[in-house]
Amino acid sequence: MIDKAIIGIDLGTTNSLVAVFEADGPKLIPNALGSVMTPSAVGYAEDGTLLVGRAARDRLLTHRDMTTARFKRYMGTDHEVMLGKKAFRAEELSSFVLRSLRADAEAYLGKMVEEAVISVPAYFNDIQRKATVTAAEFAGLKVNRLVNEPTAAALAYGLQDREAESTFLVVDLGGGTFDVSILEMFSGVMEVRASAGDAFLGGEDFTDALATELGRQLGIQPKDVSKEEGARLRGLADKLKHQLSDRAETTADYILKGEARPVSITREKFDEITAELMKRMRLPIQRAISDAGLRADDLHRIITVGGATRMQSVRTLITRLFKRFPEHSIDPDHVVALGAAVQAGLAARHAALDDVVMTDVCPFTLGFETSIPVGEDRWEAGHFSPMIERNTVVPTSRSDVIGPVNARQNEIRLNIYQGESPFVKDNVRIGSLNVPLPSDPKTDKAVDVRYTYDTSGILEVEATILATKKLHRLVIEGNPGAMPREEIEKRLKALSSLKIHPRDEQENAAIIARLRAAYENSLGETRLYVGRILAEFESVMHSQDKRAIQEVRKQIDEILIRIEGTDVF
Ligand code: ADP
Ligand code: MG
Repeated sequence: MIDKAIIGIDLGTTNSLVAVFEADGPKLIPNALGSVMTPSAVGYAEDGTLLVGRAARDRLLTHRDMTTARFKRYMGTDHEVMLGKKAFRAEELSSFVLRSLRADAEAYLGKMVEEAVISVPAYFNDIQRKATVTAAEFAGLKVNRLVNEPTAAALAYGLQDREAESTFLVVDLGGGTFDVSILEMFSGVMEVRASAGDAFLGGEDFTDALATELGRQLGIQPKDVSKEEGARLRGLADKLKHQLSDRAETTADYILKGEARPVSITREKFDEITAELMKRMRLPIQRAISDAGLRADDLHRIITVGGATRMQSVRTLITRLFKRFPEHSIDPDHVVALGAAVQAGLAARHAALDDVVMTDVCPFTLGFETSIPVGEDRWEAGHFSPMIERNTVVPTSRSDVIGPVNARQNEIRLNIYQGESPFVKDNVRIGSLNVPLPSDPKTDKAVDVRYTYDTSGILEVEATILATKKLHRLVIEGNPGAMPREEIEKRLKALSSLKIHPRDEQENAAIIARLRAAYENSLGETRLYVGRILAEFESVMHSQDKRAIQEVRKQIDEILIRIEGTDVF
């Protein structure tokens, strides 16, 4: 265990995957349950260890206060989620998923893994990117590079056909985010020409819309039902949504107050109730195309990524907009992780990749707040002065010389923002940098401000007082989404004492979680049957006979597949 490897990770809102670049290309690594997709869900088990993945996801309903998911949307905020009596930030919850993926990679590779390429939505701002790096640090992983998810996708596709010159449009609709990117590959160089997106649009919104519709059919209002009831209804909506990707109509029985009540949904109705969401997908697509200075006809390849692009309405929209079918020869669930592994292969200078180079762009404008003169000696603050424009190729560095508005000023406060509005109030505040000025009124007070944007899309700001050559660096402060260094160190210590559920017991935990969920979701005979299996399995587990446990687990898995497939939820 001395050799090192760099892994590629797709840290998703819904599912996370890990892959590695091998001699014959990128390869997905299975988790302890044998699946390459690990649900991004975390929770406490009864013994106080942490469950990650499928077992945690299946306990979302049965152990609400001990389990959580969809925390990627809190990255870069100070929002905390309670698990039992403990509060966790998104960086910490994500670190548990990363720890689990890292353990899977180590088990597969038989060597230590300490470095990773991690994908992030192209639209992740500076604070969210820094939070992702912190999550990795919490998991004992050094981030070699953050790669934009659509870039990773194009990299996975581009590799199949790298001789050709192509312009790609990548449309990624995941659980919680929507990303559109335009990339160009030319003599082995992949360049991101433009990216746009909507950080609050994903497949989960389609599930919510369907849950509301099912609630309407059942005569229950989301605000009137218990959290458990709401979550169960949502679970059914998610299942029916998946089914509508392959059929025109579907029905199910929902158990309400001990009674099986039928619900049904056609694809037509589903499209009607999600029409507003579909509309929101158009704008980022159009913006990416116009930002790249292209027309729809100029795009050679259209790639769909993310589980939610399996919905027929999404495929229809794209086919209509571009008058051709999108490509999907690589599974939309796998493509980002495979691309992250290609990037990891590039970082490790893998021989098979020596003719591929990659460049990326910053997806948004970065700058600072300025005041503009509005008459004699009067200044108006709140204006945005761009330093690095959207879609500049990274890494990049720009500098500008600024001075105080007033000659008697002994400090300049640089308020750093990111966004496209001319007014800072509409942009995202990244942080502030206080630059003390020379007190001698005769000394020149000009300050050179330099913005550097690295390949991961992470910003560094430096200010140098030209007269004294004194350098000041941005330490993100006053932004609750960014964790100060001391806080990171403190939490890192606390986290190291938390134990992840043993890897070789994950299959048992996952089967029990599934049995409990099946018990909750069934009635009558089925429920009694599941209850009996649960008790039996627990007694087999007490025997500690590994062979017997494995055998029974296999049988239960088959039974559960049948039960989960029936339409009683
Ligand atoms: P993320 O990148 O956010 O983790 P994924 O790419 O894994 O997300 O996509 C998850 C979303 O895709 C969820 O909203 C899920 O319900 C949806 N999804 C997955 N498979 C299907 C399907 N067959 N039909 C419709 N939606 C699907
Ligand atoms: Mg994704």
